[in-house]
Amino acid sequence: MSIGPVTFPEELVALLRKAPKLAVLTGAGVSQESGLRTFREAQTGLWAQHRPEDLASPEAFQRDPKLVWDWYAWRREALKGVRPNPGHYALVETAKHVARFTIITQNVDGLHQMAGNENVLELHGSIRRVRCADCRTLANTWDDDAESVPGCLECGGLLRPDVVWFGEALPRDQLEAAVEAARSCDIFFSIGTSGVVQPAASLAFAAHNRGALVVEINAEPTPLTSKADYVFHGKSGEILPHLVEAIWG
Ligand SMILES: [Zn+2]
Repeated sequence: MSIGPVTFPEELVALLRKAPKLAVLTGAGVSQESGLRTFREAQTGLWAQHRPEDLASPEAFQRDPKLVWDWYAWRREALKGVRPNPGHYALVETAKHVARFTIITQNVDGLHQMAGNENVLELHGSIRRVRCADCRTLANTWDDDAESVPGCLECGGLLRPDVVWFGEALPRDQLEAAVEAARSCDIFFSIGTSGVVQPAASLAFAAHNRGALVVEINAEPTPLTSKADYVFHGKSGEILPHLVEAIWG
């Protein structure tokens, strides 16, 4: 579809206006619209010579904690100038109008919270947080430029980013809450996600199987597209503000 002015089916607008429970899954596409580079896009310069699993796995951290620490320090630095985009803010506006609104994100950049959303389930953690690799205690402050990997104040273990690495399980509490939100919502949005990374990709299908209306917003078709009730191809930062305006404007 073309953008501006975007038109939405009357039926969808009416359903959204009265839906008490909404769940939204967001993926890398939403962050990319803020100018944030994906994991692989960020692997430029010296980082390009490393395989992704050599920068983001428990084995890599065990082998060379400083390399892994520096990679995340570099990514945190790259995040400093990044701001939420109109799609993030449209979801903040949406939350004001819906009785129960849950954002489930695969992104680790914290942009939904920066925009003002609460109740954000982070399936893959956040690179804005650092925790102990041993006792899991979160660190409040740390030195990204330290000569060696900073240690935990509680137990002396090494600090690491609070993200899910290759080979690691998703945080159980976040995943369970996400599944519950998907299974109990009236309308499920899948936004900016390729729909191939599990278990996130299965959430839309779980919602669909429970009778929820499924709306997909993505740059290109995904495995979900044929099951979705409504599909919009384009940028969420352009489509979502128009949708919010059509419903509650
Ligand atoms: Zn510790």
